[in-house]
Amino acid sequence: MKSFTFTVFAFLISLISFAQPKLQSPAEFLGYELGERFTRHHRMVEYFKHIDEVSGNVEVKQYGETYEHRPLIYAVIASPDNFKNLEQIRQDNLKRAGMMEGTSSTKVAIVWLSYNVHGNEANSMEAAMKTIYELVNPDNSKTKEWLKNTVVIMDPCINPDGRDRFANFYNQYGNNPANADPQAREHAEPWPRGRANHYLFDLNRDWAWETQIESQSRIKIYNQWMPHVHVDYHEQGFNNPYYFAPAAEPFHEVITPWQREFQNTIGRNNAKYFDEQGWLYFTKERFDLYYPSYGDTYPTYSGAIGMTYEKGGIGAGLTVTTTEGDPMTLKDRLTHHFTTGMATIEASSLNATRLVDEFEKYFKENINAPAVPYKTYVIKGDNNTDKLNKLTAWLSTHSIQYGHAAAGKATRGFDYQTQSVTNVSISTDDIIINIHQPKGRFITTVFEPQTKLTDSLTYDITAWNLIYGYGLKAYALNEKISVAKPFQPKSVVAETISSKPYAYIFRYQSLNDVEFLGALMKKSVKVRSSEKGFSLSGQTFEPGSLIVTRRNNEGIADFDNVVQSTAKTFGRKVYTTTTGYVDKGSDFGSSEVNYLKAPKIALLGGDQTNSLAHGEIWHFFEQQIHYPVSIIGTDYFRNVDLWKYDVFIVPDGSYRMFDEATLTTIDRWVSDGGRLIVIAGGASAFAEKKGFGLKEFATEDAKKQAEKAEKDQKEKEGPVKYGEAERKELSNNIFGAIYKVTLDKTHPLAFGLGDSYLSLRTSERHYTYLDKGWNVGILKGKQKPLIGFAGYKINKQLENTLVFGVEDKGQGQVVYMVDNPMFRCFWENGKMIFSNAVFMVGQ
Ligand SMILES: [Zn+2]
Repeated sequence: MKSFTFTVFAFLISLISFAQPKLQSPAEFLGYELGERFTRHHRMVEYFKHIDEVSGNVEVKQYGETYEHRPLIYAVIASPDNFKNLEQIRQDNLKRAGMMEGTSSTKVAIVWLSYNVHGNEANSMEAAMKTIYELVNPDNSKTKEWLKNTVVIMDPCINPDGRDRFANFYNQYGNNPANADPQAREHAEPWPRGRANHYLFDLNRDWAWETQIESQSRIKIYNQWMPHVHVDYHEQGFNNPYYFAPAAEPFHEVITPWQREFQNTIGRNNAKYFDEQGWLYFTKERFDLYYPSYGDTYPTYSGAIGMTYEKGGIGAGLTVTTTEGDPMTLKDRLTHHFTTGMATIEASSLNATRLVDEFEKYFKENINAPAVPYKTYVIKGDNNTDKLNKLTAWLSTHSIQYGHAAAGKATRGFDYQTQSVTNVSISTDDIIINIHQPKGRFITTVFEPQTKLTDSLTYDITAWNLIYGYGLKAYALNEKISVAKPFQPKSVVAETISSKPYAYIFRYQSLNDVEFLGALMKKSVKVRSSEKGFSLSGQTFEPGSLIVTRRNNEGIADFDNVVQSTAKTFGRKVYTTTTGYVDKGSDFGSSEVNYLKAPKIALLGGDQTNSLAHGEIWHFFEQQIHYPVSIIGTDYFRNVDLWKYDVFIVPDGSYRMFDEATLTTIDRWVSDGGRLIVIAGGASAFAEKKGFGLKEFATEDAKKQAEKAEKDQKEKEGPVKYGEAERKELSNNIFGAIYKVTLDKTHPLAFGLGDSYLSLRTSERHYTYLDKGWNVGILKGKQKPLIGFAGYKINKQLENTLVFGVEDKGQGQVVYMVDNPMFRCFWENGKMIFSNAVFMVGQ
């Protein structure tokens, strides 16, 4: 009986608590105080859902899923009144930005806080839990007051895969209790560390390019809200204190005085709370606002006050002793991030009206009076259709407007291909991007032909122009051309296909063509490629064009259907012929029409490879062209049977593993028919090595001369002043700048690209022309980047050097890529060159 009463009582209690769930603090919910452990991602998600359930004015939504299937979530937190009008507030803000029709009636500031873009800067997600709790805590009168005129959006973890990689590492290797000795294993994360996402991309370099699923998902919701203030939470090395806005120079010139001013306002408010506690911090140093693909610049170029906050903490674990002998604990770290979060919301709330008004002004200026020289970008309609479709899809994700002009027109403008001002004939087929639009400033940062750099000491690359990356025929005009008609994508024209053609022919000009080739290979369809251009039945085909003959494919059941349906799946235009006899060029049975063997590919990964460079290639095969690749670890490379693969790729890295014995093995494998592709640091590992032709200097004499010239120069300049040392170094450096590489377009490595390739060069390494081999891509004559910063000394050294070369060796080849064409995987033509190395060279 007693037990029965108790059961009924417990049941009633549970009913009551079900009806009115109680708000729990992170400690109550998780069962430990924040800072005592690294919370795993799913527990944080559960906590955010709990907040959603118990608070009437919080909405937690999933906006995507990572490659490892973790949910990407965001929370919108508002006062009860604003929460009822949330959709109105959101739409009003888009109207204010000119991204929606109509006028606004509400005036509420929107602050967006993003956490843990770098997985091993691990305090952020813990700080996010403390922050959301205080925003809904009924006893917190301050946050209640701020939320009256401010909506807060939180993305508690931009990079869940990297964050859990870090948390799992720490949970496995950490001492118990935690060890503050900085040399202890728990402070030394192994390769590839938790910073990047699943495919080892740095998500804080990917906001604009959106190569990764996390960025693609986030940009969608970002552009649905367009916040007024955005904070991107990071950590730096644990011996540093705290960095917050204002940012360092260089500032991109599209940044407005108001954006600079409010960075100061927020910075001073953060400083107030840090001063009260005696915490150290710095501002206006190191973290600049230039490269447009960061979590601070992307929002800045989209009208927000975009900022990076950095707490000292990478590698600190739960606690560590700093060089100054002080403890640095996770609890301190998350408290500091929590403090700047609160101070930022406060500063925004105190200035809410001004923030909203200035935001509106920013967009009015963009639409009515953009203060930039180039008012229209014209992308010619006769560029490769795949590239145009890809570029326009990308424009749409960023809410950039584009379309066609009402009528053709003759004018003048900057020609991206010749780097000069020329006559431009605009047709109604061309794509027009008029800068008079909400995203005008962002467009400028991505497409402008020249950039002004107020300070060459920047944190990242100084050039990134997508028009160069795609290798497009395009113009920048000072004149305003209006978009009159929506963009009409070109569709594939279905050809009449003779019932049993002698062969199918496909063009080979874009990555879609590469993906299609890979798909045919996966279906065991034998494909050939013509080394020379040819013409047939009134059609001309460029070198590299793909030919699928009936002969050799007798083994494929339902051959015609397989080829035609694959072409349909990939939207490829099908050309057919009833003869292998061409009007001009090589007939299909010629030795110049090569059979392309489907390559079995091995990619080197592991602690001697640059994890980002490795990830770029991994992602490319797996997610972009969907072609299988075996990843081989540097740690067991010696035990691998290389003869099982046709292609072996050594990405950028810093290698110790290529000793004499290993090089001899690789040399033998190449001679037996292997294709070795070595990139950037991977190429350096093979330079000056026996059996490999890559050299820094052509002769011993040339080397001595260069050394002497350097010595003379140093003597002439005299000793370097301490305070000028950093700047002095600049003359020797390249900061991600774009150079024009002259191509030998008759070589398969250059198929689909033409006479030149614009290379995004990120390192100073340089080599002479290959003595025995094909110098397919070279820096010929005097050198100066088309765009971006490079020191005068390095430009001199780059004259007449190799960028892409192929060395034939026995039955195989070595492909040297001195520049990394896969850098961040957003350089469309770079990916084409790489694909050629994989599928076309040596076939
Ligand atoms: Zn970071």
